This record gives sequence, C-alpha cells and structure tokens, in this order.
Amino acid sequence: MPVPRSTTPRGYRLGPGGSPPQAQRRDPKETEDVADPRAPRHWVDHLLQRRRTLSAAVLAATGSSDALDPHPDLLRAAAHHGEPTEATCPWCRSEALVLLRYVFSDELGPFSGRIKTERELSEMAPDFGFLDVYVVEVCPDCHWNHLLHTYVLGDGQPRPPLRRPADLLD
Ligand SMILES: [Zn+2]
Repeated sequence: MPVPRSTTPRGYRLGPGGSPPQAQRRDPKETEDVADPRAPRHWVDHLLQRRRTLSAAVLAATGSSDALDPHPDLLRAAAHHGEPTEATCPWCRSEALVLLRYVFSDELGPFSGRIKTERELSEMAPDFGFLDVYVVEVCPDCHWNHLLHTYVLGDGQPRPPLRRPADLLD
C-alpha cells in the first residue's frame, strides 16, 4: 500500500526521489515572544511517518523505494556536509548514517535553503526572528533518507531579508 502524501505545507517526507526539503511560506508580519533564540521551538517529530515509510519499503520487497532512491544532491550534501550521529540506519543498520540540517527563512534572502551545522545555527539564531530548520537523515551506504524533525530558531522578531553576503553565512 502506498504511503499517503501529506497535504500540509510542512510535509512529512522528502519530495519525490528524496529531494532536499523546500521552504515553507511564513507571514512576514508574524512575531513571537521568545526567551532563548537558540532553543528549538515548534519541534515536530516525524518518527511515526518514518516507521510507516520503513514498513512500505519493506513491503516493496524489491529493496527499492522513494526512500532508497534519493536525489543526487542529497547524497552529495551528505558526503560533504553530513554530521555524524550515534544512530544507525533504520534500513541497513549502517553506522555511517549522517544528519543534514537545512535552514529556511525569508530573512535569509538568497541564503535560504542552505545546510548548516548545529553550531552554526546556534550562532545565527540570535540575529534572526524565525529560522525553520529541517533535519534529514541520510545513509550513504543504502541511500535511505528521511525527514526526522523540524523546528524553529530565532528571537521571534522578523528582520528584513538579507541581500548581500554576510560573514556569518560564509
Ligand atoms: Zn542504510
């Protein structure tokens, strides 16, 4: 049975062929009272969806599925920017599983959609109102990939979009 596609803008899975996540739209006038801009908020876990995807992949029996046939950009990103994790791949049990953190925000202008480490995000957070972070796990061995969770960083006060390269983002 195919996994039903989410109709919410946030989405639960990566795009067709395991494409990197896409930005969601946010009301530019939205503000929020935030005590600590570095503390993740609006945390959404996608582990239930991962279990379903995993079951569907097992049922496919050919060993081939969307989750195991990712977009080449995702594999390249995993090879160059992947953060190691203690977790093992849910499909092949490989310990080579890595995490990618994509950050989206209108405030980032042309830099929205880039991959950042947890530490880089923590440094950026106080300088922005809303940073949408998408954490994706990717296995370089079997190509399993899945959106693990999403969360928001920033102090809740939106800034005008960046136009020029900032040292922060290099
Ligand atoms: Zn794997």
